[in-house]
Amino acid sequence: MKPRVAFFDFASCEGCQLQVVNLEESILDLISVVDVVSFREAMKEHSDEYDVAFIEGSITRPIDEERLKKIRGNAKLLVALGACACIGGVQGMSNEWSPEENKKEVYGDLPGYEHTGDDNPFFEKPIHKAVNEVVKVDAYIPGCPIDRNEFAKIATAVLMGKTPKLPNYPVCVECKKNENICVFELGEFCLGPVTRAGCNAICPQYKSGCEGCRGFLDDPQTNAHKEVLEKYDVSVEEMLKRYNMFNFRKEGY
Ligand code: SF4
Ligand code: SF4
Ligand code: SF4
Repeated sequence: MKPRVAFFDFASCEGCQLQVVNLEESILDLISVVDVVSFREAMKEHSDEYDVAFIEGSITRPIDEERLKKIRGNAKLLVALGACACIGGVQGMSNEWSPEENKKEVYGDLPGYEHTGDDNPFFEKPIHKAVNEVVKVDAYIPGCPIDRNEFAKIATAVLMGKTPKLPNYPVCVECKKNENICVFELGEFCLGPVTRAGCNAICPQYKSGCEGCRGFLDDPQTNAHKEVLEKYDVSVEEMLKRYNMFNFRKEGY
């Protein structure tokens, strides 16, 4: 019997699921070895009988935690899909602000935000959690959005019962291998020295600084990063502000 696979989304833009839908030819290979039983982005059918659950999105409300625990209870294996699920995503930044500040930031002075309902997380102190803060995670597919090829690689490993390993060296390694000009030389900021590689340094490749969407390395060399910043006269405050974008204050995974 083929393993049954289900996809679920929580607080997210659904861009990572879209990457899976866009796998093109390789999705046919995947479908030939698994039964996709639930995937709202791509099909109407749904089943609660599955072996592997892919979770997209951060976990925000108590009701989401209950739903996630139920999914975990049904699944033999659970995979966090994308930065929102792996590290809480960009929305995790709002954990640092008060409900009033969040409301102001999202709705500005527009009238009407009052009727967003009592269950709207902005009414309470919002807490965006990564999936592993609520349930056990068996594998991670980082990035915002995920890389399609990495998805195919990690999904295959998981389905074969293997524990996939993510690169544990910085984006700078891939960047230097590609012989890119360091974006600091161009007056840009970059989190490459402390960010987990695996994206082939795609942003610096296009002369844009790494924003850290793949999360911290297991052992980020923050001192080395500070040295780079000193060399290019960038303040530590600026560095810490950038760390917040993808929730870098949390432990790496
Ligand atoms: S990780 Fe990025 S692309 Fe994926 S769901 Fe979250 S916001 Fe969207
Ligand atoms: S700091 Fe950024 S641009 Fe410079 S080498 Fe590292 S990844 Fe590349
Ligand atoms: S370079 Fe940085 S921001 Fe860009 S995809 Fe890679 S990890 Fe994400």
